[in-house]
Amino acid sequence: MQFLVEGSLKGLNKWLRFFGYKTKMCEKKITHEILLENRDKIFLITSLQTAKICEKIGITYLVLPRENLKAQIQILINKLNLRPELKLDICSICGTELIPIRKEDFKDLIPPKVYKFYNEFNYCPNCKKVYWEGDHIKRLKKKFKNIIS
Ligand SMILES: [Zn+2]
Repeated sequence: MQFLVEGSLKGLNKWLRFFGYKTKMCEKKITHEILLENRDKIFLITSLQTAKICEKIGITYLVLPRENLKAQIQILINKLNLRPELKLDICSICGTELIPIRKEDFKDLIPPKVYKFYNEFNYCPNCKKVYWEGDHIKRLKKKFKNIIS
């Protein structure tokens, strides 16, 4: 299952990536060309006007409420049988799989305090960003439990 995600659903897009789903954000104006190119995906939208266009072209879509992330995810779970699982080996910015690294090799990219206290680091080769198991991950796990409950 892959998704095309409307520009206004950035937060949801990030979570879908954490769940391990492939997504593509549509930040530009939605055109027939874009829709035709992405026929194989489910289009997540908030506008009924866009829904009409999707229907005309025959692209699968789902209209979601604006703003409320928890409600959006609940709808996806119920309608598409989504089984959310928190995947932390995926870059939340671009969706690329992270590579485990030795901190010694990336010392320049890691704040000194973090370097001192943590030993497990991952790297996104696309964004050139280093991730580590810290408060960020703890917060993420807590938020995950909250939004899927
Ligand atoms: Zn990335």
